[in-house]
Amino acid sequence: MTEKANIIVIGTGGTIAGQGKAANNTSAYECSVRGIGDILSTIPHACALANLRTEQLLQNGSENFSNEHLLAIGKRVSTLLAQHDVDGAVIAHGTDTIEETAYFLHLTLKSSKPVVVVGSMRPPSAMSSDAALNLYDAIAVAAHPSSVGLGTLVFANDEIHTARDVAKSSSFKIEAFRSPYGPLGYVIEGQPRYYRHPSRAHTLATPWSIETLGPLPQVDIVYAYGALEPEAVSAITARAQGLIYAGTGNGNVAAHLIEPLRDAVRRGVHVVRASRTGSGIVLRNGAQPDDAYGWLTVEDQIPSKARILLMLALTQARDLQALQAVFERY
Ligand code: GLU
Repeated sequence: MTEKANIIVIGTGGTIAGQGKAANNTSAYECSVRGIGDILSTIPHACALANLRTEQLLQNGSENFSNEHLLAIGKRVSTLLAQHDVDGAVIAHGTDTIEETAYFLHLTLKSSKPVVVVGSMRPPSAMSSDAALNLYDAIAVAAHPSSVGLGTLVFANDEIHTARDVAKSSSFKIEAFRSPYGPLGYVIEGQPRYYRHPSRAHTLATPWSIETLGPLPQVDIVYAYGALEPEAVSAITARAQGLIYAGTGNGNVAAHLIEPLRDAVRRGVHVVRASRTGSGIVLRNGAQPDDAYGWLTVEDQIPSKARILLMLALTQARDLQALQAVFERY
């Protein structure tokens, strides 16, 4: 028998730490109230998977998470992973912005040890809650040698997702997490099974280290529609260093918004054309002459991921070509 892995289970709040008044409260309940030790005590079987230690890092809904929260989570996880008696980490997290925190860790942690971010769509108090099994399975993933070197993973509803691709795609269903190219694998009976690996660079192969990152530049997102007023674009770009323009279809820009966006570039704002569709590639110089306007385009990153990536990119580069290369690489 091989030795059990040492896994740190970190609580940050969310539905997985929620409590409803009655078992039929699957969607109306108080979030971020139960401690991680308390939640873990409901799954004693998890002790057979790994040696477990807990830490309550935050107790907050992930809709509140600012860039400072991201940095705080990343720096603490990094410190814990550096300890010789920690083999991996599970982070219990609200599902609303799990895709952002996980992608941020995927790009900035300098460790090959498994990090699994997990949430639940129903609180532990609800009928057919996914909290206990998701946490149990996430521990199984973090403790398994086949998860080493895959970057940050997100576990939900039997599925192991790469942090790069996964996004929350339902406001209430248990089956809320989707990766456009499918999950990396599954867990069944506490046993992870992988069918593919992330192909884009992450963790040790990126130029960003959580250890040295300071305050992140302000990057905002604007959701496009035909009646969007130019003043709204000007207002949101007034303080930002970067703007993710979640355009219609293939990153399309309404005719009356081209000048406000070009003006933002003249003021030093890095404008990125993305798509509000939720998946697919935005073709550079396709719908718009990006080279002529000094605009960037995402490759296939959805707006929430593009915001994380541009914030990191802007900590090291300002040159258009270098910034564009980041969207092609990560
Ligand atoms: N407020 C919660 C959050 O932290 C709601 C979503 C959830 O955890 O499922 O994101």
